[in-house]
Amino acid sequence: MNLPQQARPSRHQLLHSRRDFFKTVMGRALAGASILEIAQYQAAWAQALAPTADPTLFEIRKAAEGVYQAFAKPNAILNSNGVIYVNSKEVIIVDSHSRPSSAASLVAQIKKEITDKPVRYLVDTHFHWDHAHGNATYGHLGAKIVASKTTQRLMAETSANRVKGTLEPGGKIALGMASVPTLIEAAKGNLAKASSPADADALKIRLQQLDAYAAEMKNFSPTLPGVTFDKSYKIKDKDFDLILQFNGRAHTAGDTQVYCPSRGTIATGDVAAPFMGDGYPRDWAKTLDTIMKLKFDIILPGHGPIQTDRMQMMGVRNYVEELTARVSAGKQAGQSVADLQKTITMASLKSMANGGDFLAIFGGRTTPTQTQTGINNNILHMYDRLDLK
Ligand SMILES: [Zn+2]
Repeated sequence: MNLPQQARPSRHQLLHSRRDFFKTVMGRALAGASILEIAQYQAAWAQALAPTADPTLFEIRKAAEGVYQAFAKPNAILNSNGVIYVNSKEVIIVDSHSRPSSAASLVAQIKKEITDKPVRYLVDTHFHWDHAHGNATYGHLGAKIVASKTTQRLMAETSANRVKGTLEPGGKIALGMASVPTLIEAAKGNLAKASSPADADALKIRLQQLDAYAAEMKNFSPTLPGVTFDKSYKIKDKDFDLILQFNGRAHTAGDTQVYCPSRGTIATGDVAAPFMGDGYPRDWAKTLDTIMKLKFDIILPGHGPIQTDRMQMMGVRNYVEELTARVSAGKQAGQSVADLQKTITMASLKSMANGGDFLAIFGGRTTPTQTQTGINNNILHMYDRLDLK
């Protein structure tokens, strides 16, 4: 779409206004940042706002009065969704995505599209890289970072090493993360044989995104939650209360949901995301049952669009329960992971009778082959995690 000629700013104006925008939005946020951190933010911002790239990383969608989903747009490095609560005096954000510049980009977008109220809380639903690695931005903003005690511990124990492994050529690839050098090599290979200028442009943007992530995360160390809780934590306000709850182990040992009873919404992080590398298969269905008993009409998941029914949550619940029973029985009978991956097919699972759409949450619809790969990965992870204490 072309802008009318008079509305199109010159390149000089664009660069200038971008610089002002950066200073205005991040001035306070960067008060305590090092020169290196500021340079990283600026580089990431310049890239995010470059004329060829999509200027925003999220699409903000209203879910209820004062409740919004920050729907993550596709990126070479996955970002989780965020959830934004705006009460009478402040902003509460759920999850900080895969890097500080993603969080900074969302904060800027909130100021532009929703409110000038200060961001006072960031909640980490769990410790995973695509949800909690932008915490530093909220630290600089002076927001309280809140998580379950278990999530804080898992973040301290694993986050830095996992990022390191994914950035080093030949490094130990962390669960659920891709090797960035491998992705860069693949994109360069595809660029060399790109069949159209449009394909080449898309691959160049992908390479920029991968390089920017690697540069920003090179010296990553996690910004840990400063406020923790065992079972629940309440954020009170005259508009609405938010209840942060640990309802049992599922996707990780510390999954937190952010429940807003008066708005009928619940932010669920990845509690219904079928990645099992850090999961607790035998607890999972029970945890989802506990959550589904709460009164809400709107689910704000960590990936994918807003849900207005419990279909997907129930689908994952039934799938995890059935797969756990199958893997457990097979393991007891002496079958290996490879044996089980051959016999537990999509067609053999009752819970997949609807086509298993819930396995597609990480991007579009999956093909049957991709779905079976998802099942195989789940079997592999589950096999070792069945009887964890
Ligand atoms: Zn996760």
